[in-house]
Amino acid sequence: MNTTRREMLSAALTAAGVAVAPDLAGAQEHAPDHDHDHQAVPPDSALRVKALESLMVAKGLVDPVALDAIIDNYEHKVGPHVGARIVARAWGDPEYKRRLLADGNAAIAELGYGGTHLVVVENSPSVHNLVVCTLCSCYPWDLLGLPPQWYKSFAYRSRSVIDPRGVLREFGLPLADEVMVRVWDSTADLRYLVLPERPTGTDGMSEADLAALVTRDAMVGTATLSSPRGGTHA
Ligand code: FE
Repeated sequence: MNTTRREMLSAALTAAGVAVAPDLAGAQEHAPDHDHDHQAVPPDSALRVKALESLMVAKGLVDPVALDAIIDNYEHKVGPHVGARIVARAWGDPEYKRRLLADGNAAIAELGYGGTHLVVVENSPSVHNLVVCTLCSCYPWDLLGLPPQWYKSFAYRSRSVIDPRGVLREFGLPLADEVMVRVWDSTADLRYLVLPERPTGTDGMSEADLAALVTRDAMVGTATLSSPRGGTHA
């Protein structure tokens, strides 16, 4: 069956005028002493993506250099360290924090970042914010990088709005009854970032050291931050 799929893809790509890579064409020769097992064919999803990419490149619909740049950006340049830098700046600069909460996009642009319309929501001793995308997996990629698998799962997407306290308990974050939970449902046009509470015992720390304390999950709202001296947030 695998061989059939491989041959079918090769035939489809050849028919579309696409040069077929040797590994996809099955023409790769192994040395006589090459006796370890290989996975015969990549997963279906990878094959489908490769076939679509090859066709789109062949038809001139996408530029492979541009694709590589996008992939490199998300693999190496974008990640939770970006969001952490913004959080640390807000902790150390009340005026910046005020601007960040009032107009997220304008405030992150001050630090050289941009992206989809951003709203920053602040945790406090009385309010805990949780971000979800009930429809699919909308997420502030530009600030947090690639979303974790659980963020995209049906269980998280559905249960976060039905039973947010139960979900947070399962993340190891039991909230006191008096703490209000606010759940924010992201869309393709609107992304949320949680501004976690600054941990105690961090007075006098540099912005870089503060940023190192900030986790991805705290900026999604499924975690809070521990004091570097032990204990929890203020
Ligand atoms: Fe979505």
